[in-house]
Amino acid sequence: MSARVYDAIVVGAGPAGSAAAVLLAEHGHSVLLLDKAAFPRPKLCGEYLSPETARILDRLGVLKAVDQAGAVPIRGMQITAPDGTRLEGRYPTAGAYRGYRDHALAIRRLSFDQILVERAKALPVEVRERHRVEDLLVETDRVVGVRAADVHGRVLEARAPLVIGADGRQSVVARRLGLLGAHALRRMALLTYVEGLGDFEDLGEIYVDPPDYAILNPVAAGVASLSLVVPFGHAAPFAGRLETFFFARLKQLDHLAPRLAGMRSVAPVAALGPLAYRVERPRHGGVLVIGDAAGFFDPFTGEGIYAALRSAELAAATGHLALVGGDVSRAALEPFWRARDAAFGDKGRVTRLLQAVIGRRWLANFVAHRLRRRPDLLSLLMGVLGDFVPPRALLSPRLIFGVPR
Ligand SMILES: Cc1cc2nc3c(=O)[nH]c(=O)nc-3n(C[C@H](O)[C@H](O)[C@H](O)COP(=O)(O)OP(=O)(O)OC[C@H]3O[C@@H](n4cnc5c(N)ncnc54)[C@H](O)[C@@H]3O)c2cc1C
Repeated sequence: MSARVYDAIVVGAGPAGSAAAVLLAEHGHSVLLLDKAAFPRPKLCGEYLSPETARILDRLGVLKAVDQAGAVPIRGMQITAPDGTRLEGRYPTAGAYRGYRDHALAIRRLSFDQILVERAKALPVEVRERHRVEDLLVETDRVVGVRAADVHGRVLEARAPLVIGADGRQSVVARRLGLLGAHALRRMALLTYVEGLGDFEDLGEIYVDPPDYAILNPVAAGVASLSLVVPFGHAAPFAGRLETFFFARLKQLDHLAPRLAGMRSVAPVAALGPLAYRVERPRHGGVLVIGDAAGFFDPFTGEGIYAALRSAELAAATGHLALVGGDVSRAALEPFWRARDAAFGDKGRVTRLLQAVIGRRWLANFVAHRLRRRPDLLSLLMGVLGDFVPPRALLSPRLIFGVPR
C-alpha cells in the first residue's frame, strides 16, 4: 500500500484540530484532518466560551457563524459560596484590560464543533470523518505519519513531516508515544440539559459546595447545561446508577437545590471521570500535541476550548516555520512548548489556587467574603477567567493584600 503524503496530518477534528488545520491550510500547507466521528457529534462539555475565545474564532473566520447559530451572551458568573454568600462577577468592561468582547458565549458543542469542521472543509483541507487513527508511523526519533481505519476496516496510511495530535483525552498520539499519565486530582463530572429554570439574566451560575461544585450555563433559549463535579470515589460505586446518584447528589447542595425547583431534565445524564490527567512533551520530532491531547485539569474555570484554540494557533505558527525551514526536529518544534508555557503557565497557577479554595469550605467562604468587599479584585478575577486579563495582575501581592485603588 502506498501512503499518501501531506505537509501536515491533524488527528482529531474537535476545536483544537479543526483550528490547527485551518491555520496551516491558510499558510498554504497541504493538510489531512482525520476524526473517528462523523460531525455533528456530541461532546460532554459545559459549553461556555470565554470572552477572549471570540478573538480566535474571528481569526478563524467563524465568529459570525457562531453568533448566527444562536450562541447565548454571558456577561459573567454568579458564584454562590458554601455559606450562601453570593457574588456577581461580571467581565470588566472598563479599565486597563478589555476583552475582545465584553461577554462570553454559550453554545451547543453539536453546532460549535461542526462550524469549525465546516470551516476546514471550505479550505483546501482533506477532511476525513469516520477515520480512526490507530497507530503512528515512527522512524527512529521521528513521527512520520499515521495509520487509520475507516468504519469498514479499510486502512489508510498517510505520511507527513508534521503530525499534530488533537485527539482529546485518551489521545492515541499521546498514548502511542507513552506520554499519558494519571493525575492526583480525581474527580468525575455528570452533566445533563435542563429546562424550566426561568431567567439567567445573562449570567452563568456556579455553586461551590465542597467537595462538589455545580455549574449552570444557559446554552439556548430556555435550556441550560447543568454539570456537577464530585470526587471520583464518591460516584464510582454508583456505576450503572449514575443518573440516580446525580439527582440525589444535587439535592445535597443546599443553595442549588431551591434553584432547581421546577427543573425538567431534557437529556440523559452523561458522566466522565477521572477528569484530570497529565501528558508529557513528546521526545520525538515531527509531532506536537494540542488541546485536551496535551492534558486536562478541571472544568471549573471553563478554559478548555480557549486553550484548545490558542494551542492550535501556537502549533500552527511553529509548525509553519518548521515546515518552511525544512526542519521538524524536536528542537525546531521547541518554540511551541515555550510559547505554550508563556500562554498558559500563569493561568495554570491561578487555576490550581482556585482548586485549593473550592476544595475547602472555610477557605471558599473566606475568599467569597473577601471578594464581596473587593469588587476590583473580583472583576480582575473574572477577566483572568475570561482569558483577557494576564493572571500576573491577580497574583500581585500588592493587589491581594493592599487597598483598592
Ligand atoms: C465536564 C466538562 C465540562 C467542560 N466544560 C467546558 C466549558 O464549559 N468550556 C470550555 O471551554 N471547556 C470545557 N471543557 C473542556 C473542553 O470540553 C475541552 O477542553 C475541549 O473539548 C478540548 O478540545 P479538543 O479539540 O482538544 O478535544 P475534543 O473536543 O475532545 O476533540 C477531539 C476529537 O478527536 C477525535 N478523536 C479521538 N480519538 C481519535 C482517533 N483515534 N482518531 C481520530 N479521531 C479521534 C474525537 O472524535 C474528537 O472529535 C469541559 C470538559 C469537561 C470534562
